[in-house]
Amino acid sequence: MNAIDSKRIWLSSPHMGGTEQDFVKKAFETNWVAPLGPNVDGFEKDIQSYLGNDVHVAALSSGTAALHLGLKLLGVSEGDEVLCQSMTFAASANPIVYLGAKPVFIDSERDTWNICAEQLEIAIKDRIAKGKKPKAIVAVHLYGMPYNVEAVHSIASEYRIPILEDSAEAFGSTYHGVKCGTFGDIAILSFNGNKIITTSGGGALISKDPKHREKAIFLATQARDNAPHYEHSEIGYNYRISNITAGIGRGQMQVLDSHVANRRRNFDFYKKHLENSSEIKFLEEPQGYFANRWLTCIETSSYELREKIRLSLADENIESRPLWKPMHQQAVFADCATYLNGISDDLFDRGLCLPSGSNLEEEDLYRIVSVIKKVLK
Ligand SMILES: *Cc1c(COP(=O)(O)O)cnc(C)c1O
Repeated sequence: MNAIDSKRIWLSSPHMGGTEQDFVKKAFETNWVAPLGPNVDGFEKDIQSYLGNDVHVAALSSGTAALHLGLKLLGVSEGDEVLCQSMTFAASANPIVYLGAKPVFIDSERDTWNICAEQLEIAIKDRIAKGKKPKAIVAVHLYGMPYNVEAVHSIASEYRIPILEDSAEAFGSTYHGVKCGTFGDIAILSFNGNKIITTSGGGALISKDPKHREKAIFLATQARDNAPHYEHSEIGYNYRISNITAGIGRGQMQVLDSHVANRRRNFDFYKKHLENSSEIKFLEEPQGYFANRWLTCIETSSYELREKIRLSLADENIESRPLWKPMHQQAVFADCATYLNGISDDLFDRGLCLPSGSNLEEEDLYRIVSVIKKVLK
């Protein structure tokens, strides 16, 4: 096939369910064009009943905003240290710096590619020995694969350090039957354009403590004290979601489970067609883990092979991407403390994210697999 003629295949593109515009239209008809209104309330209720477990939800303008407020609610401030999974998107770590605190990066484990409980405990002991107990832990369910909740949370509770659960990529994933986004002292979701459901841009802060939701909304709406005029005793933010974008979210909630099913179908397809190769490995679900398979990622046998596959796909107008570059390798975090075991560096060298949209068609998947098979021959 000629790459110029062939349709572009994206890594992960928005996939509307069909009813989104009805909710948006209703907002226009009733003139609820503001960062509050029935769609905001309805979207929060939809998320809450989907997650269950008595959570309280504040819908916000982005996942990054949710992380920023979440860390603030956990008491992170100037000069504090926050332990953060190194292998993640920069948005997991940036809000630590917004607050004047310092990230300390923790490497991954092989089983899930997420925060390594062993390195986490080494880091906690070492930071305490050096005179400063970390203020919070940012743990991430990368690519929709849950982190080892039991191991990570038992260490966190032993040392009494709260967890901010970054569930931006894991809406719809479960760990031993419990939904991701309900484990952390505070958890966050993202509805950015490439996520499993999207509002074009948006996020949510989740907590079992209703006071966290209340305070998050107070801070997200410019921290207005209760008075007839504008009275402020705290610095606020403009972080609330709008009633228009929340309308898109209400429509997307109706198709979340089918998006999860489609993304898992992508993973199964790739695995079925590529697992015979000794040069490619897939990340399997450990017992009790259910991943939404937001992105299907492969581990190739070498950096050279990864690049060959990536460039061959690009030649055929197919988008793919190396795994997240670990934060401890980023210039902007060069002076941060690290607790490393080599795993995230290795995964970054050899790993590749394949197109994984819930709107991919079978012929797209066949096209992708045939390019990869050609490279493997
Ligand atoms: C997308 C993402 C975020 C940030 O969410 P936005 O809504 O884009 O601000 C945070 N953490 C992870 C792991 C993400 O993938």
